[in-house]
Amino acid sequence: MKDNDLRLDGNAAGGLLNEIFPFEMTTAEATCRGCGTTRLFGEVMFYRHEMGAILRCVDCDMALIRITRIHGYYRLDLSGMSYLRIATGGHQHGTGHLQ
Ligand SMILES: [Zn+2]
Repeated sequence: MKDNDLRLDGNAAGGLLNEIFPFEMTTAEATCRGCGTTRLFGEVMFYRHEMGAILRCVDCDMALIRITRIHGYYRLDLSGMSYLRIATGGHQHGTGHLQ
């Protein structure tokens, strides 16, 4: 593949994600539609390319989020996730239970 397909870790995605989502995405969790695994965005594989970025499941390589920036808009394809869980703020070291 080409050199401009730059692979970074999920924390490196934080800057771009923070342009789009008004909460801390690296501590949000996504459940992969491909394999059912739930992971923090800080753990997923993040590929930056000139039109945007792709976040991939580390277990099955499913594209969880595809971000395309075109003509002043972000277009998000979220079809690789079955759900997204975001902390409500305050304490983020919960036990996995809803509070
Ligand atoms: Zn997966």
